[in-house]
Amino acid sequence: MDKIEHIGIAVKNITEANKIYKSLLGYEHYKTENVEREGVTTSFFSCGDSKIELLEATRPDSPIAKFIEKKGEGIHHIAFSVSNIKDEIKRLKKEGFRIINEEPKKGADNKLVAFLHPKSTSGVLIELCQEIE
Ligand code: ZN
Repeated sequence: MDKIEHIGIAVKNITEANKIYKSLLGYEHYKTENVEREGVTTSFFSCGDSKIELLEATRPDSPIAKFIEKKGEGIHHIAFSVSNIKDEIKRLKKEGFRIINEEPKKGADNKLVAFLHPKSTSGVLIELCQEIE
């Protein structure tokens, strides 16, 4: 794994959360992106080498809606960047981690992504992401 690429935060209202994180960080988010397949709107703030990804559900069956229903707003996942996501999935599977997406899928911010189940990572949803070239 190369670095923490971003931290994903589930929010109820992304317009409000954008204001909060703008005040916190001292600058605006640099993009907003709708990932309809996942039922989320995302916005990204850069922070040094990493990013903050805010996630708002766009429909009730979205994973973010379910997360907020269960746990409330808060940290939803931590994403690590990897140079070869398929190799990394193979390696982690061998190590015994529960892989949610054995086949990486297209995520926000021009990335191929795959998730590891929190049950196998001390309670934290882990995202692997590889930049699409
Ligand atoms: Zn993410």
